[in-house]
Amino acid sequence: MPSSNSGFQRLSQTALSRSRFLRLAAGALLPIIGVRPSVAQNAGAPATRDTAAPGRAGAILVSQFGPVKIHSYLSPADGFHVNTQMIEGPTAIVIFDGQLLLPYADEVASYVQTLGKPVDRIILSHAHTDHWSGLQVLTERFPNARVFALDGVADQLRARGQARLDSFRPIYGDRIATKVTIPTETITEGLQRIDGITYDFRRFVDAESDLQLAALLPAQKVLMAFDLVFSPNEHAFTLVDHFDHWMIILEQLKALLGYDTITIGHDTPVHRSAIDSTISYVKRAKQIHAASADAKTYSESLKAAFPDRQHAEWVDLSARLLYAAPLKAHL
Ligand SMILES: [Zn+2]
Repeated sequence: MPSSNSGFQRLSQTALSRSRFLRLAAGALLPIIGVRPSVAQNAGAPATRDTAAPGRAGAILVSQFGPVKIHSYLSPADGFHVNTQMIEGPTAIVIFDGQLLLPYADEVASYVQTLGKPVDRIILSHAHTDHWSGLQVLTERFPNARVFALDGVADQLRARGQARLDSFRPIYGDRIATKVTIPTETITEGLQRIDGITYDFRRFVDAESDLQLAALLPAQKVLMAFDLVFSPNEHAFTLVDHFDHWMIILEQLKALLGYDTITIGHDTPVHRSAIDSTISYVKRAKQIHAASADAKTYSESLKAAFPDRQHAEWVDLSARLLYAAPLKAHL
């Protein structure tokens, strides 16, 4: 397994031009660059503690809800600042999402092992590569854990997963998966108890991705929204023209009263007010998209509309994909 720190060196040593890097990343449909994950939390997030460990590149926050703990691993920036959520119940761990880069998935696995409980299952939230490439490591480290996803996700990975990995290889080399990990089990929607914890699984289409899982923990009043909700501190990905439907979904999430804590696909947990700020963002993005003839205009206008949000480069990437129609490249 390569060193956790080799990614930054690799990126700088390869000296990719910004445009080539964007093109490669766009081909893989993923955000790029950013900052090392901050353990500073979003306003309104639950009490958490950072479990910093020497040599670990990612950051881990732990939130406790009675007997249930949610451990959130945040990758460094070159791993797209993506989360893996580990839900610790009385006797087992359920892992959501598998990281982009293998070293970070390995950090997740090593951390899970310190919890001293078996991995019951691994659940993939959607088919964007930054959420599943590292499943290769997790399934190697936890061979008894079955991999679940919504019906349709496995087909998406079979169809396009290897091409996505291949598009990342010039950037990340051996830090990206060598094979696609296809989920073998289908998540059924609705209520389900796993290790004594009640989950309410929801299926959404045509938002940030074309097929997205959300998971509610009704007893803990936690909404795991993945890439449906973004931090008010960061730009959201607007990769495809699903603005209207995405806003409808966000209104549905807003109607889930009492869910004050939301874990998201990128960055630390947010308060439910992040639903409103995501709606505002998507609404503005829709207006700008309607008024912008090309990617450059869209990108510049959206960045100007939200000057305080981080990861302006995510807007550049979104604009490239959004204006690459009819490219159905949002996997
Ligand atoms: Zn994502």
